Amino acid sequence: MDDTTRSGERWLAPFTPEHEEFRRTIGRFIREEVLPRHADWEQQGCVPRELWRKAGRIGMLLTNIPDEYGGGGGDFLYTVVVLEEIALSLASGITGFTTHSDIVAPYLLNFGTEAQKKANLPGMASGDIVASVAMTEPGAGSDLKAIRTTAVRSSAGYVINGQKTFITNGYHADRVLIVAKTDPEAGARGISLFWADTATPGFKRGRLLDKVGQKAQDTCELFFQDMEVPHDALVGEENKGFGYLMKELARERLMIAVRCAAALDAALDWTIAYTKERQAFGKPLLDNQHIRFKLADIKTLARATRSLVDSSILRYMKGELRSEDAAMAKLWATEATRAIDDLLQFHGGYGYMREYAIGRAYTDVRPNRIYGGSSEIMREIIARSL
Ligand SMILES: Cc1cc2nc3c(=O)[nH]c(=O)nc-3n(C[C@H](O)[C@H](O)[C@H](O)COP(=O)(O)OP(=O)(O)OC[C@H]3O[C@@H](n4cnc5c(N)ncnc54)[C@H](O)[C@@H]3O)c2cc1C
Repeated sequence: MDDTTRSGERWLAPFTPEHEEFRRTIGRFIREEVLPRHADWEQQGCVPRELWRKAGRIGMLLTNIPDEYGGGGGDFLYTVVVLEEIALSLASGITGFTTHSDIVAPYLLNFGTEAQKKANLPGMASGDIVASVAMTEPGAGSDLKAIRTTAVRSSAGYVINGQKTFITNGYHADRVLIVAKTDPEAGARGISLFWADTATPGFKRGRLLDKVGQKAQDTCELFFQDMEVPHDALVGEENKGFGYLMKELARERLMIAVRCAAALDAALDWTIAYTKERQAFGKPLLDNQHIRFKLADIKTLARATRSLVDSSILRYMKGELRSEDAAMAKLWATEATRAIDDLLQFHGGYGYMREYAIGRAYTDVRPNRIYGGSSEIMREIIARSL
């Protein structure tokens, strides 16, 4: 790996020796505990539940949550390290670790009550509790206001009815942050968030969805039928959920951009190595000007992506990353991964084989242009700032 892509020369993202030590720990964990069995888990459609506890033991979960709640107490660069190491090693089956740690946990940290934080964050950090966020429904993804899941007040709390789809970690989830309508007539102003225990009667999981890539990462449908949750399952204030989502989605979009910048760097490195080695017409592939120029373009693209993503990380850490900035980082970095198609091309037929990293990278990066808000929605957000 080119040392400008991990921490060396990353002046915009100031990693310290402690981040480097943490990076080595995460890299070792992935090499020893994840990669040797990843292909089996791809067949199964999920990683084993025990892997979550192993990850908890080495401090891989909730790195950016304060230690008083059992988290690592680190800054956002620890999250970046985890995202990058997963992306660089193609351990896509544990992509959901970062959804759990850096997308779901911050909702509790930022909007939850002290009791909700104390009851859940330590267990999430240890891997004893696995968490998901359930926004998307069969009839509503990009247009979140159009969700149909409802939460109706009852004497004991709220009764939730509805259905969610494409939910990361849904298969193993012990808790789900459910996005539901508490005032169906009020559009975005009628949405609330609920922290639900999946042991509650009325909760049902659907099948593991058969995805094009990221095959070891569980993605599931969820069903709620007269599922009664207590009053204190409400996260934050009633009908304020949409605002909470918009606030947290900026962080999620930055995380996706970080992952894509790393994936593009890794795919480029594999391709440079491959084209130096592979011979055709009596010379290495890289000796052809067409391939050299194409790789030069992609190297430039990867460097530009890295610069935008690292400066966005820095702005996020200073509290200055606006929603349109996060959208630009996500749009640019995810669209840049289209270059992985060219990188696959230079591997010839081998590129199309899943045993080659480039083939898996090609399918694994694809949903980044869809989830967390699609490229089209990113353009809408950016356009609103014009
Ligand atoms: C692997 C994977 C994991 C996921 N994990 C989760 C999860 O953990 N939790 C969760 O809640 N969701 C999750 N999702 C769902 C994801 O967030 C949605 O798929 C995404 O928001 C798009 O919604 P949709 O699929 O309903 O597409 P649609 O909203 O139906 O959009 C279809 C197409 O139309 C385009 N489009 C829509 N509106 C406009 C417009 N106004 N202008 C131009 N184009 C438009 C979209 O960009 C897209 O290209 C996951 C999805 C995948 C693939």
